[in-house]
Amino acid sequence: MKVIVVGSGIAGLTAALHSHESGHDVTIVTKGDLGDGCTALAQGGVAGVYGPGDSPSAHAADTLVAGAGLSDPDAVRVLVSDGAARIAELIARGVGFDRADDGSLRLGREAAHSHARIAHAGGDATGAAISTALVECARRLRIPVLTEAFLVDLVGEGDAVRGVRVLRDGVVSDLPADAVILATGGAGHLYAHTTNPSGATGDGIAAALRAGAAVADLEFVQFHPTVLASGSAFLISEAVRGEGATLLDDQGRRFAFDSHPDGELAPRDVVSRAIARRAATQGAPVRLDATMLGAATLARRFPTIDRVMRERGFDWAKDPVPVTPAAHYLMGGVVTDLEGRTSVPGLFAVGEVARTGVHGANRLASNSLLEGAVFGARAAAALTAPWPAALRARDRTDIDLDRDIAASASRTEPAFTRAALQQLMWEEVGLLRTGDGLARALAVLKEWDAAHTAPTTVAEHEDANLLLLARATSAAALARTVSVGAHHRVDTAMTDAASRTPSSILETV
Ligand SMILES: Cc1cc2nc3c(=O)[nH]c(=O)nc-3n(C[C@H](O)[C@H](O)[C@H](O)COP(=O)(O)OP(=O)(O)OC[C@H]3O[C@@H](n4cnc5c(N)ncnc54)[C@H](O)[C@@H]3O)c2cc1C
Repeated sequence: MKVIVVGSGIAGLTAALHSHESGHDVTIVTKGDLGDGCTALAQGGVAGVYGPGDSPSAHAADTLVAGAGLSDPDAVRVLVSDGAARIAELIARGVGFDRADDGSLRLGREAAHSHARIAHAGGDATGAAISTALVECARRLRIPVLTEAFLVDLVGEGDAVRGVRVLRDGVVSDLPADAVILATGGAGHLYAHTTNPSGATGDGIAAALRAGAAVADLEFVQFHPTVLASGSAFLISEAVRGEGATLLDDQGRRFAFDSHPDGELAPRDVVSRAIARRAATQGAPVRLDATMLGAATLARRFPTIDRVMRERGFDWAKDPVPVTPAAHYLMGGVVTDLEGRTSVPGLFAVGEVARTGVHGANRLASNSLLEGAVFGARAAAALTAPWPAALRARDRTDIDLDRDIAASASRTEPAFTRAALQQLMWEEVGLLRTGDGLARALAVLKEWDAAHTAPTTVAEHEDANLLLLARATSAAALARTVSVGAHHRVDTAMTDAASRTPSSILETV
């Protein structure tokens, strides 16, 4: 079977390696170099290694609680049961996870995990270790790769996807395939502040939307609580708080416990909002205090962060450092079944571009690398299976881009630029949302869209994709009138699902 995999992060490379090893004729298409994307930047690690007292069902329970009742229990069950095999595979493919003196994997703990179950490599360089190993495997197996090749659109035949349209060296061409596996990652660049690399512009989701694929849960954007609030966005892993670092206000007080009994280790959305509110009240960033860990531990356990801190002039072993939330991860995306199949025959979606149902309204830390590996492998295994007659509907949010809204754009709105879009999304579709703000965003985006001309360059295609995705995200956020998980409407009540442990769901995993 001729298979095109778009994207070369953990999801795309896993899918490509498995497809190749099953005898398919695979080509990888990727926007920059092989291995670019978020994967190589991941710090904390991969969840899914279970020590004494821990188990897949405990991991599933934590995942479901973080998802605020909106995760799909079947998808979560698949994640935790396939996880061990995928982590073993990563080790077999050459990822040198950190080990304790007795040879066992050294495990970290992150927010909202009930146990230490995060495998990491190079201290805080897990993603780089994974990316290097998988890229090396793809090269060794001589899987054909088109680098600097930009997915413009999916190519259809009848109601099925039969290839991709790519822009490379200024030339647009169609590449035919029996199946396309979309692994294009997320869309952090919808926002003015993001941890994501510059290529995270939501191209795959936008292409899937244009191809008529079901897309859901775009309103669920995870903001990472702790990005260095100085210079360009640099993430300070959750694992730092997992090791004991605390968050302090301008009085030196640990304020995170005001919002949640788990304090700094509460779910990310809770911690992010607590930081945003406190920063707004005090008119300055809050501080992350890791001084109690000591210089030696910080340098050994978090060598990458330690190096960047010093490069940026911070001695975090001596002084607390300023931090702010930033857009980090998109829980929503292209709706798939448990094998990565979308609602359009021939089109698979894996990794961050997909909405498998694992994350619900909020992602549990370190579940996304695992998700990419698990569902990348499953999609490859399902390539030759018959396409199901209908994708299960699940709790899909219908996105109405042309919804009538009372608001209209004021005359003082700026003309479209990527920076203006990112600022609008940060202000109105960010951590704290209101109906009025979302309606304003939609009105402005609609005007920008009407004035937009057909894209030709890569940057123009990215802008068009961001514009489409911004409209879809704002519309989805406006349609969800209650707060749940990462979607926080300050003008409406908290839904039940956001505040309770979904015990009926837990019993099923
Ligand atoms: C700073 C940071 C730290 C993180 N830490 C962790 C962690 O510790 N643990 C964890 O589980 N998760 C972590 N995450 C999240 C995790 O890294 C990502 O969710 C995951 O790597 C996504 O993998 P992916 O394969 O789906 O996409 P990516 O790794 O983002 O790869 C996307 C690929 O698609 C390609 N692409 C995109 N658009 C196009 C196009 N138009 N045409 C062609 N190719 C295209 C890109 O070039 C890239 O190769 C972190 C994320 C960031 C940003």
